[in-house]
Amino acid sequence: MNRWLVNSIVKSPNFNERKLPISMVVLHYTGMKSAAEALERMCDPEAEVSAHYMIDEAGAVTSLVPEEKRAWHAGRSYWRGVTDVNSASIGIELVNPGHEWGYRPFPEAQMEALLPLLADIVKRNHIPRGNVVGHSDIAPARKQDPGEFFDWARLGDLGLALKIPLAKMNLFYDNPGAFYLALERFGYDISDGRAAVTAFQRRWRPELIDGQIDGEIGAILLELLLEQGSGRAR
Ligand SMILES: [Zn+2]
Repeated sequence: MNRWLVNSIVKSPNFNERKLPISMVVLHYTGMKSAAEALERMCDPEAEVSAHYMIDEAGAVTSLVPEEKRAWHAGRSYWRGVTDVNSASIGIELVNPGHEWGYRPFPEAQMEALLPLLADIVKRNHIPRGNVVGHSDIAPARKQDPGEFFDWARLGDLGLALKIPLAKMNLFYDNPGAFYLALERFGYDISDGRAAVTAFQRRWRPELIDGQIDGEIGAILLELLLEQGSGRAR
């Protein structure tokens, strides 16, 4: 933890030991009516949930679990072959009521607190850009957070996540199976195909989220795979 980037420490009892080295960051929204409620829940032993950091809408950063410990934010999830995402990741919760309680844009103050925190975590832990993900990327059938208002493009421009590729033309795969295979190859759990497509759209083409494979997301996925293959997107 970088003390300069943390405003307060509230110790949560909800953690255990990691079984994997840190290689990912998972971004969330809290999905609760208030920051106080979210903090209380993440410190309640009966809730059995937590994260390493929470950032409120005014930009105050709270540390709840030391980075070296395994916080409980990912749940049943999958990314690039990893199923114990909690063991492999640092979890950051952004205070936002979420789709259930009135989803709203993330304020600039909150983003300005997130960016240096994330940059510091990524740098200290040598986290590949392709492993900075949203909860919906690793649990597409269960989760929507941080959601379509989250500014992934800004993270991409700063080198803190993969850049969002521009689809230069429509690209159609031979059949849906080919698209799903490509999606799996990139990292997604495709056991629920429609959910995986929806999660992909939410992250990479938030302007249209309908769960349908189309030429534009086909092109975006190919660009991402080409980047991955070239080693530019570790
Ligand atoms: Zn989440």
